[in-house]
Amino acid sequence: FEQKIHKEHALPAQTFDGETVHLRANLALDEEIDAARHSGAEGVGLYRTEFMFMNRENAPSEEEHYRSAKALLQRWAPYPVRIRTFDLGSDKQCPSLSTGEVEANPAMGLRSMRLALRRREEFLAQLRGLLRAALHGPLQIMLPLVSGLEELAAGREAFNEARAQLVDQGMPHAAHVSVGVMIEVPSAAVIADLLARHVDFMSIGSNDLIQYTLAIDRENDDVNYLYEPLHPAILRMIKLTCDAGAKAGIPVSLCGEMAADPRYTWVLVGLGLRELSMQASAIPVVKNIIRSSSLDEMEALAAAVLESETGDHARRLVLDQISERF
Ligand code: PEP
Ligand code: MG
Repeated sequence: FEQKIHKEHALPAQTFDGETVHLRANLALDEEIDAARHSGAEGVGLYRTEFMFMNRENAPSEEEHYRSAKALLQRWAPYPVRIRTFDLGSDKQCPSLSTGEVEANPAMGLRSMRLALRRREEFLAQLRGLLRAALHGPLQIMLPLVSGLEELAAGREAFNEARAQLVDQGMPHAAHVSVGVMIEVPSAAVIADLLARHVDFMSIGSNDLIQYTLAIDRENDDVNYLYEPLHPAILRMIKLTCDAGAKAGIPVSLCGEMAADPRYTWVLVGLGLRELSMQASAIPVVKNIIRSSSLDEMEALAAAVLESETGDHARRLVLDQISERF
């Protein structure tokens, strides 16, 4: 099995019946790049920039954002690199952006895009750096935790301001850059059709989407037995988002932990996903599953699972099918 997987390294993640799924790497630290580059990943589907802000007094400068993104693009050429703007706050606090206020409900508080819009200077520095770096390759910029069109519009406005600043400085930058949103708040999944009209791509953040949809704190041991990726509400939201992307003609990815679990590969591809982004070490196994399956059987399982009334039932269907075939 190990040897078979090794041989598939350079081959596409393609089903028997010719459907291709793009498998990309989730990255946060530059030390991970070498291993990820050898995993067979087709580019980066999620670069978490939070770590650039951690363990230091000041936020990174425009220049640091520029250099980091440019280096990533050069390292991954010709593949795309999708960089997420800082997703700080809540469980990811850093000294330079902390307000010092204690929030009663940090997961629902000043985090991600909300924090970026409040800390405009640091956000604009990141956007300027990224717009400059986009001259060096297929850079995609992803906005986290968008809950509605207003937040997306505010993000777009920040892009315009960053661009105007670069023009003023006479600094070369990309005239167009691909901009997308994460779908990780239930409201965003429900209005994915509306969001899809205004973005170049969408990426489902299943970790947060599950947390917010099922109202369970990811970190709370007393309730995490309820954390069920195959809950009917989650499956329907993934389906809604895939359908909205297909209708608008834009790609939809999934970049939460679900993507790295080979037991879910059939369901995710069957629901319509053609891009999955995961920790690089999971790519060979997920690729092997896809290469050993047909789209027909994956769609049949997804259709059956969508009929399940409970997560338990869906889980039994999925595990039975996967253990029978693998
Ligand atoms: C997610 O929520 O699924 C996600 C990819 O973002 P993070 O885990 O960084 O919150
Ligand atoms: Mg998230």
